[in-house]
Amino acid sequence: MKMPQHGRDWSEVKADMVARGGGDAAWRDGRTAVYVFNAGEDVSSVQHEAYGMYMAENGLGPLAFPSLAQMEKEVIAMGLELLHGPEGATGAMTSGGTDSITMAIKTARDYARANGRPREGANIVLAQSAHLAFDKAAHLMDIEIRRVPLKTDGSYEADPAAMGEAVNDATIMMVGSAPSFPHGIIDPIAALGAVAAKKNVWLHVDACVGGYFAPFARMNGVPVPPFDFEVPQVHSMSADLHKYGYCAKGASTVLFRSEALYEYMPFDMASWSGAPMKTPTLAGTRPGGAISAAWAVMNTLGIDGYREKQGLVCKTRERIEEGVKQLGFEILGNPMLGLVAFRHPEHHAFAIYGEIYRRGWFTSVTKEPPSLHLMLSPKHADVVDAYLADLKASVDAVAAGKAGPKVEARYS
Ligand SMILES: *Cc1c(COP(=O)(O)O)cnc(C)c1O
Repeated sequence: MKMPQHGRDWSEVKADMVARGGGDAAWRDGRTAVYVFNAGEDVSSVQHEAYGMYMAENGLGPLAFPSLAQMEKEVIAMGLELLHGPEGATGAMTSGGTDSITMAIKTARDYARANGRPREGANIVLAQSAHLAFDKAAHLMDIEIRRVPLKTDGSYEADPAAMGEAVNDATIMMVGSAPSFPHGIIDPIAALGAVAAKKNVWLHVDACVGGYFAPFARMNGVPVPPFDFEVPQVHSMSADLHKYGYCAKGASTVLFRSEALYEYMPFDMASWSGAPMKTPTLAGTRPGGAISAAWAVMNTLGIDGYREKQGLVCKTRERIEEGVKQLGFEILGNPMLGLVAFRHPEHHAFAIYGEIYRRGWFTSVTKEPPSLHLMLSPKHADVVDAYLADLKASVDAVAAGKAGPKVEARYS
């Protein structure tokens, strides 16, 4: 496409955009279980309006926009309260989970350097199921990643003892997930804490997909084990607002147990031609809308609203677990939140994936072991029966040798 010499009317451009979306994954009707968190029209309209109100404002300028600075502070305070942040705990909003994880690693690295750890050979110890954002950030900072196999007891949990063995004097961080993305399983954070304490290593909990879910699940009676700052050895956490916080995209939180740890995060510089600038995270300009929309969604839902939504998601996951078990699938481990992965003892999950995809469902897979993967939202409560019927037809097609051509399951 070439830029048009004369701009077109907005109405025409808008119609063009609507038409382009016609080929995208159908998420509005619940037939997508990855990428989008559909909490319904009410939440969506708050996101839109609240984003628009501060869309031009810039989170880079807290002096110009004390409104945004205060909203960010309050979002962090709400997050810390949910996640047992002790007195003095603090943090910042970032653009997403990858950003939060990158900043936590940068902070842990600078803390390690300031505390006499060797600069050479710096490494991070994490489970095979931890998110690849750690590898990406480590690549940026030239840090070694040490992935450790999961426990072999069928729990799909990180193995604290094996991880401890991978730690050396250049380890700047150990990681636990709450939950892991591929399996939706909460790692044994308390046991990881014990190992981290023994080895004197920073422990980060990646609660990107569970941080704004697990506290409410627990309030609803789900036996969620300690996973947050309640575990005294947890130094930092990542928790995404734009996932189960149901906030507009571009919003996550990175949290630290104390101001003394947080101090290693911001970049503060005056030695250039411009005025001094201090930025807490990777970004310079920060979209005001992402901050204001997060603040607005949290304030309109409140604890009751989140409890209701997460309760619905848990109920939906239980219905799906029951239905897929009846079709012969096995659930991986003991999922408690909104993610679930399941495999079939006879038929390859990726073949079934192709069939369910052809029937109009955009879902996902886990590679180790080959499984179907769902990330559920409140909207999915409406489509459980339709999904299970299509899943049955998919399994039947594969069993009858009538599967269509292979569909490759990748994120991108
Ligand atoms: C989604 C996710 C991330 C990365 O978050 P983005 O917002 O996609 O950058 C990291 N860890 C876990 C466990 C996640 O689910």
